[in-house]
Amino acid sequence: MSRPTLAVIDLKALRANFALAQSLTPGASTIPMVKANAYGHGMIEVSRALSESAPAFGVASIDEALVLREAGIKQPILLLEGTFSCDEVGVAADNNFILMVENSAQKDAILNASISRPVSVWLGIDTGMHRLGFEPHEATQAYLALSNTDNVAKPIVAASHFACADDLGSSATERQVVIFDQCTASMADATNDVIAKSLGNSAAILAWPKTHRDWQRPGYMLYGNSPFSEGQENANKLQPVMSLQSAVISIRRIASGESVGYTANWTADRNSIIATITVGYGDGYPRQAPNGTPVLVNGVRCPLVGRVSMDMITVDVTDLDLVSIGDKVILWGPELPVNEIAEHCNTIGYELLARIPSRVPRIYSN
Ligand SMILES: *Cc1c(COP(=O)(O)O)cnc(C)c1O
Repeated sequence: MSRPTLAVIDLKALRANFALAQSLTPGASTIPMVKANAYGHGMIEVSRALSESAPAFGVASIDEALVLREAGIKQPILLLEGTFSCDEVGVAADNNFILMVENSAQKDAILNASISRPVSVWLGIDTGMHRLGFEPHEATQAYLALSNTDNVAKPIVAASHFACADDLGSSATERQVVIFDQCTASMADATNDVIAKSLGNSAAILAWPKTHRDWQRPGYMLYGNSPFSEGQENANKLQPVMSLQSAVISIRRIASGESVGYTANWTADRNSIIATITVGYGDGYPRQAPNGTPVLVNGVRCPLVGRVSMDMITVDVTDLDLVSIGDKVILWGPELPVNEIAEHCNTIGYELLARIPSRVPRIYSN
């Protein structure tokens, strides 16, 4: 008795993908990235499903971390962008959050904070992505400053992030590793500390074993889709976690020459049967999906025709034997990779998953 538009989330597949990430980097600690509502899958449920084996979780902000705490997640939570204001340092210390320290302002906020217990920190190093992190020549100084204050809990993890690890033919990843190794060697020389390290995102975990270090940070792969545009041995073992589903709510015959939908951007070149499905850009189905984007109706690929509306799409089902109101539709899932839909839309699966709004109920199975 409600709208049939749902995201069905297979927690067994999620756990299998996490186990794959762990098995590829034996001896490392593997931290699930659950930012942006766990890439649209539901941050609380995903974190609960992985909480038996996850040593920590990664999020984008202190607000996301507090949601997990309130939901009863006990592990440390890594704030990938660190603090946005000085007052967050005390909240992080009190809640066992780990702060990325990406610049001098964040470092100084920690050094100058009056906090009752030390806060855990990871030091971000810019090895080539040029978005966040200390420049390599500044990093040892920053490491020393953070080592020499009682405000910081030891050990400090040195971390960096790859710009191009999803490109299997690029030399950028190896260049970043060389810079990272030089930088962490200098920290070790300056302190005699054994430096704990973190590099890997999904692509690096799957395809770049030389990048594997003490802490891994998989995101996208946990949700069962490949970060690569081509096949890759380990990525081929991933199991898609989300199935975005809806149903047919209307069927009509139109004559050759008639158009469908806003802007009339598709015109039938034969007498056609059009099924209307109750899912649209208000549910995260991308408006830029062009005519011909595949939609599974009763398990058969049919082409999207006409513009995506806020709450509906239209599909050409002329070639299907039998279609009825109420028939099941899959927009993406194990049978139709979200990456394939993303390719039609000039984006990546990450964006399509992360943009699914709260009005789409998430239904958890397994
Ligand atoms: C989001 C994020 C990750 C995970 O990246 P995936 O490509 O989804 O595996 C890892 N590290 C950092 C710093 C991130 O922001």
